[in-house]
Amino acid sequence: MKLYNTLTRKLENFKPVSDEVKIYTCGPTVYNTPHIGNYAAYAYWDLLVRCLLANGYKVKRVLNLTDVGHLTSDGDEGEDKLEKSARLTGKTPFEIAEYYSKIYLDDYAKLEFLPADVVARATDYISEDIEAVDLMREHGYTYETRDGVYFDTSKFLEYADFARLDLAGLKAGARVGFSSEKKNVSDFAVWKFIQPGENHAMRWDYLGRPGYPGWHLECATIIHKELGEPIDIHTGGIDHIPIHHTNEIAETYAAYGTKLARFWLHCDFITIDGQKISKSLGNTYTLSDLESRGFSPMDYKMWLLSGHYQGTRNFTFESLEAAKNRRANWRERIALCHQKPVESEGNFVKILEAVSNNLNSAEACAIIDNCALSLDDWRKIDELFGLRLISDTPDVSDEIYNLIHERDVARANKDFAMSDKIRDELLKQGIALSDTPDGAVWYYN
Ligand code: AMP
Ligand code: ZN
Repeated sequence: MKLYNTLTRKLENFKPVSDEVKIYTCGPTVYNTPHIGNYAAYAYWDLLVRCLLANGYKVKRVLNLTDVGHLTSDGDEGEDKLEKSARLTGKTPFEIAEYYSKIYLDDYAKLEFLPADVVARATDYISEDIEAVDLMREHGYTYETRDGVYFDTSKFLEYADFARLDLAGLKAGARVGFSSEKKNVSDFAVWKFIQPGENHAMRWDYLGRPGYPGWHLECATIIHKELGEPIDIHTGGIDHIPIHHTNEIAETYAAYGTKLARFWLHCDFITIDGQKISKSLGNTYTLSDLESRGFSPMDYKMWLLSGHYQGTRNFTFESLEAAKNRRANWRERIALCHQKPVESEGNFVKILEAVSNNLNSAEACAIIDNCALSLDDWRKIDELFGLRLISDTPDVSDEIYNLIHERDVARANKDFAMSDKIRDELLKQGIALSDTPDGAVWYYN
């Protein structure tokens, strides 16, 4: 398999160190209902896992749910996203986390993403976080300010490497009034202290004061506990590169003295009608919004898989309609396979090859559109893409085949009243017919 590694900015041959591929996916911050853009990355990482499995690898995958510490700025300023959501709704942050985790995990299942081996909630790893901060302090990478324990990025000489950060430029462009106690602009909180009078319900005692972990720490400690470094592949959105992933790398090195991951994969952003997804533009469509407009989660997944994970993708309802039609067309071909078996010409190999080349599902879809495929090929495609093609297209019952046959006989006898009656009866059951010189063939309407 070939993957584009953010670490080297190159397409590289991927080989795991052991026979089990260790993958970590940065999951959502569970403070609001995810919009469809949020699911892009998970669809591509689901494809990654499925592609590894199709290539004969075993996979151990961990996904986290951020339920504490992610501030509205992505840095160390602003309010904790969960605390803010709790304040606005009159709920507790724990209730917020539970409510939105459920929505996320329900959507995750609807999108037929393979379940992760471990779904790790950040708040379940607080003692591991504290141990890691102790280690970073012991190793001399941190300093304390009034509002937290900060990572001194000047102590980690490779800090700028991963994201190719221009630290001098960052310093020059630093905003007036930036936290005056930070030694360097790029320093970040590994642990935040709750200030007197500050309303932060999620709190744990450390260094004699109530506080909570900085956002990036959970990923470093969850990986350390559940997978062990270096993991094979770490995934996320491109927005994670300059801050979140850079800081995860720094914390891992400072606490455990190890490299975090060998391969890093990042997915680009989705725009809608050419615009950024944002509340103010009213285009934060959720999966339920698509469903209420007559599209299934599988249609949206088909749309995602029709493109490539690297490079901005522009969502429009016209292109979603095209994806829906493509999936319907594939299902018609499966229905035909049930009726008249197609011999395999070995085309699945080409499809898997395309996906194995840096997850080029767009090319794989084009191959599928244009080649002969047996039912067995379709089964393998379904395992590779997770599009519920086969399960949504089961062979019909003998009773239905008998009805179709009766209708063919009625048509041959020019008994069109009977023929129409049977056609209508089948339509009521969701089965449509298309007449061919060899008799009618069915497909799901
Ligand atoms: P948020 O909850 O806004 O922090 O988003 C969670 C993650 O979803 C982000 O870190 C991104 O990686 C991803 N994401 C957000 N918006 C988009 C988008 N428009 N397209 C693709 N991914 C996105
Ligand atoms: Zn992370």
